[in-house]
Amino acid sequence: MIKFFSTNGHQERVDFKGALLAGQAPDKGLYMPESLPILSQEIIQGFPQMSYHQIAYQVIKPYIGELVAEQALLDMLKDAYSFDVPLERVYDGKYLLRLDRGPTCSFKDFAARLMARLMQYFLKEEGKSIIILTATSGDTGSAVAHAFYGLENIRVIVLFPEKEVTERQRRQMTTLGKNIYPLAVAGKFDDCQAQVKQAFADPDLAGLALSSANSINIGRLLPQAVYYFYAHSRVAPGGEKVVFSVPSGNFGDLMGGLIALKMGLPVKKFVAATNENDEFPLFMQTGRYEPIQPSKNCISNAMNVGHPSNLARLFALYGGQMDESGQVIRQPELSAMREEIYAVSISDEETRQTIKDAYTRYMVLLEPHGAVGWAGLQRYLREFGDWNPAVSLETADPAKFPDEIVRLTGINPPLPPAMASLDEKEENYLRMAGGYASLKEYLMEFF
Ligand SMILES: *Cc1c(COP(=O)(O)O)cnc(C)c1O
Repeated sequence: MIKFFSTNGHQERVDFKGALLAGQAPDKGLYMPESLPILSQEIIQGFPQMSYHQIAYQVIKPYIGELVAEQALLDMLKDAYSFDVPLERVYDGKYLLRLDRGPTCSFKDFAARLMARLMQYFLKEEGKSIIILTATSGDTGSAVAHAFYGLENIRVIVLFPEKEVTERQRRQMTTLGKNIYPLAVAGKFDDCQAQVKQAFADPDLAGLALSSANSINIGRLLPQAVYYFYAHSRVAPGGEKVVFSVPSGNFGDLMGGLIALKMGLPVKKFVAATNENDEFPLFMQTGRYEPIQPSKNCISNAMNVGHPSNLARLFALYGGQMDESGQVIRQPELSAMREEIYAVSISDEETRQTIKDAYTRYMVLLEPHGAVGWAGLQRYLREFGDWNPAVSLETADPAKFPDEIVRLTGINPPLPPAMASLDEKEENYLRMAGGYASLKEYLMEFF
């Protein structure tokens, strides 16, 4: 069975269950699979005839081995992926992969829903309970809160940057109650993420059984390899190579794609499209990495990340090493990275122009994150020549970002059924102004 190692180099190896329940490795590194199983071409050629959850089973099973009974895993997958995953043709062989049809209308539902079910399964087996402590730039918090809502044995604390989420993003976290505890932090996403990491490393909190649901958790990552296989099976049933464009912030989504690639998915190129937080595109150009501090506040708010956690995994995948602070311990193989990834930064101005153009030219309503991906794809096609099929990921529903979209297109994006009556529900949350000290005090007093 596949074991998981820590990107910080500690010698201990754990199985999938251990990695999932711990979230972060004890040496503050991120867990990565020691080897990546390669799916045979025969298996991949069967995917066009399979449904989403059947493909998910093939992709995820090798990591889980015998830890979950076969039927239980199939049931979980069927239950987690009970919504549509449309591929919308925009022009020629260019598609949007709509990952916004889950209960909180962002792609984060894909990972959160399976992770919640797996955690619940393992915790029941052990008779244990845990506290999920997670930071969100806007969409993780609601996806995780909804996925874990009402479960026994699990309480969820979500830290979000008070001024950097939209009202609807906030409401998706603050109107649930029960086992969900939202905390508004006076700061940025990076501050939320830093506080969460500090809590994990704090010996005074060791008794709390904290776990993470951020993309630092390997349980978030593996489900995100699945939709690349799914999209490929729908747009390239003959096995052609596909260009994927991925709007990126913390780089969990892109890591899912790279894992799919290493598992045998035929990919021409990944476009890693960031907003003005361009630390990764700059690294790809220069080979020097510098976190952006503080991160820039762009309209694609879920991607306002000045130091993406998952770069530690990305480096590990290419033979390098990066510690949790962004220090490069060993350079990855840049030429191999450039072979597989084209990195590009899209300004807010270009993002806005892209939303307008997509609407006027194709009658397609993009939201800011999907627009960064779409603009990144256009840049790639201009620079390297046309390519079909190409898939750009639309990671959220436009109704999560109504103000910007009304301004740009004059269209008020219709509320998807999953968000109906959200604007009327009562909110409950606490404000945290005192940095890590106040988070610690809160945890020690109430949990
Ligand atoms: C989180 C998020 C992203 C960025 O995904 P990463 O895995 O952090 O790179 C992009 N778009 C939306 C809508 C998101 O919520």
